[in-house]
Amino acid sequence: MLASYRVRLPIPNGQTAGGWRGRASELGFVQAIPDSVPKPMLQVADVQQQLLCGETSIMRQIVIRFLCLCAVSWSLQIPELTADEDRGSPGQQVKITSLDSIRPADINVSLIPRLPTVNVAVYLAETADQPHGYATAHANLVASFVEARRIFARAGINLKLEFVRRVQVPESWLEVQANAVTGIPAPLDLNAYLGYRKAKWTLTKRARHIFERIIERAPENHRTIYLLYLNEVRMAYFDRTDSQQPMIKSIPTGGLSLPAYLFESRIPQRIRGVITLCKQSGRHGRTIAHELGHKLINVSHEYGEIHPQFEVRGEGGLMLYGKGTEIPSGIEGRWHRERLHQSPFLYHLNQSGDRVWNPDYKEHGHYYDPLYGKHVVRFGVMTDECHSEHSEVQTKTPALAPLAPAYCSEVPPGFREQFDVGLSE
Ligand SMILES: [Zn+2]
Repeated sequence: MLASYRVRLPIPNGQTAGGWRGRASELGFVQAIPDSVPKPMLQVADVQQQLLCGETSIMRQIVIRFLCLCAVSWSLQIPELTADEDRGSPGQQVKITSLDSIRPADINVSLIPRLPTVNVAVYLAETADQPHGYATAHANLVASFVEARRIFARAGINLKLEFVRRVQVPESWLEVQANAVTGIPAPLDLNAYLGYRKAKWTLTKRARHIFERIIERAPENHRTIYLLYLNEVRMAYFDRTDSQQPMIKSIPTGGLSLPAYLFESRIPQRIRGVITLCKQSGRHGRTIAHELGHKLINVSHEYGEIHPQFEVRGEGGLMLYGKGTEIPSGIEGRWHRERLHQSPFLYHLNQSGDRVWNPDYKEHGHYYDPLYGKHVVRFGVMTDECHSEHSEVQTKTPALAPLAPAYCSEVPPGFREQFDVGLSE
């Protein structure tokens, strides 16, 4: 049996599709094929650049929809850092300055006393020749932050602005492929959050290097949210539109929150609060709040009865694509507000004025992390232990232990082969 894949990859300038074929074996989903099956041949059949801009983009809706389906496994070959980028030649040193036109103390004066608080810091990446748009249109940035803060204040949370800094970087750093996926495919009906665990998103080496260079070291790095503005941040995902022809795609994003439910501990703890945004001008407070929601509520696109693997667009909820800003509570609200208040990024001040941080994740922050107790929603197929060597989802997650593996008995012979899509005669 010979397997054939159709894969869409962004081809770097100056390279041909043929040049990428040799790297096929490095793709994660190829590795997922059982040893008993002859290694597949990968065809780089199509090369496509797609644009994804703004919350209302149709393409964005489609992309997120497929992300939510979350039968993903890939490892995208990423260009390595050049020697100059890695060392930082004299002309490419990271240079950080404060944006004095924005005074956090003035903005924080309206924080609500005694509410749990999240510290948020902002970096505007730019080059010596091209200042970031918000460096001059700072009023737009402030308005966006205040709008996001208002959304979270309604859910009983303060967003405190720590600082806004300009960071001068090599021009090449302004565009980055954020992630690779190193796991294995999941069947389409598997619970989306368990599918995310199997997909094993990780930062690319290049993204990690850039984020670590920009975010300055501080004692509470890992408890701070960093809004990092770049020009283009690309996100790789596995498109399962055609279950028989899975394709790898990488697309630009307007915002990417790099949440724990996708990355768990595969993002260095010191920089786990990073959120990338690609915006030069205008107000976008709802986008900031939405990305903060991914990080702080630690959920994908979902709302009410809408499970994350299906509908992602609608009105009402902050975590859907639309104009909604609600962070609902209770089981009917999928525990969003409760999960928000349990975020490890929150603290309150004790009587001495010292910060008391929320407890940290117990299992690296996956959706069913025991930190959340009953504040989880179970849906879809909750176990794949019959057809996966990755049954640690069951065994290592006490919250899932009571779930009966009834699904297993319904799995027909050969199911494993069926969801190893891409295999064909
Ligand atoms: Zn989102």
